[in-house]
Amino acid sequence: MSQEMIPPGGVIGILGGGQLGRMTALAAANLGYRAHIFAPERDSPAADVAWQFTCADYSDVSALKSFAGTVDSVTVEFENVPEGALTLLAELKPARPNSLSLATAQDRLNEKNYLESVGFKAAPFLPVNGPEDIVSALENFGSPVVVKTRRFGYDGKGQVKLFEPKEAKDAWVELGCSPSIAEGFIDFVREISVITARDIGGNIVSYPAVENRHENHILRQTIAPAPDLGKLAAEAEHLAANAIAGLDMVGLLAIEMFVTRENNLIVNEMAPRPHNSGHWTMDFAATSQFEQLVRCAMGLPLGSTEVLCPAEMQNILGDEVYDWPQLLADPKIHLHLYGKNEARKGRKMGHWNRAI
Ligand code: AMP
Repeated sequence: MSQEMIPPGGVIGILGGGQLGRMTALAAANLGYRAHIFAPERDSPAADVAWQFTCADYSDVSALKSFAGTVDSVTVEFENVPEGALTLLAELKPARPNSLSLATAQDRLNEKNYLESVGFKAAPFLPVNGPEDIVSALENFGSPVVVKTRRFGYDGKGQVKLFEPKEAKDAWVELGCSPSIAEGFIDFVREISVITARDIGGNIVSYPAVENRHENHILRQTIAPAPDLGKLAAEAEHLAANAIAGLDMVGLLAIEMFVTRENNLIVNEMAPRPHNSGHWTMDFAATSQFEQLVRCAMGLPLGSTEVLCPAEMQNILGDEVYDWPQLLADPKIHLHLYGKNEARKGRKMGHWNRAI
């Protein structure tokens, strides 16, 4: 596929219709591009702000081909888009990220093997194809272990922590008897992430590592940059750059890591798309992660990742969205709402950013 710059006026195709697609479409509009969203859900926050919306299943080949006919390049806002859909589109238009990146991130076993191959340390892990493998993990790694389905896990879903061999069978059933991995439990002191971007010329920039605080496995707060990381900041950025280059991907790669008591980095997972821990960049970095993705997808030069001011991001979950009048009244808060109708418990409804 061509490696040329797509000038403003062009169309970015986005697979996935969630808030990440919505904010990417808005960033595209700011640079004079139009967005075409492809998603199976009729109710898609991204579709509300897009030029065109194809509501179809990712396996609908004729819908994918028509979509490809209207866009200049294709990106994803959701890593569980079936790899086959992106592979098909990649034959017709530049796919940024490529399907290798998507396939690697979709399977926790491939992902961990890949991240180790580029220099990251991971928690000890082994593939799980039955309860006996969970028992081996407990024997080999000690108690507790965390068992995660290889595919389709998010926000702690598809994940079980267990302490004793007698729990192995129930854990396996709870995970739907799906191929999984078992990991040693990391007694971490903090969680951090790095978002790195790579353009069509192979140039790489990273946003500084940020600190993430979770509640009930869902991201609650990000502090950017992560305070007092010392040498780990540069190490995390360096490894993230290796990871994005090794996949030869163009776009954004977010990598989540743990910092241990002994001050070592242990990688957790990666996502080849914008990331919740990068939302602070919308108001407090020279270029937002969404604009950065648009630049990558459209073959433009990378934007500066300079931090304008240290900042905090907080997610607005479920019915907290009804606090919008108070949030709006605070002059220090930059409010971003996703236009979702239903405020289900724990659902990401919006976020806010504030200087710290
Ligand atoms: P994940 O779905 O892999 O992002 O995991 C969700 C959360 O579970 C992480 O952000 C951690 O807080 C926790 N977690 C996952 N894996 C481990 C592990 N091996 N050791 C300790 N905590 C973990």
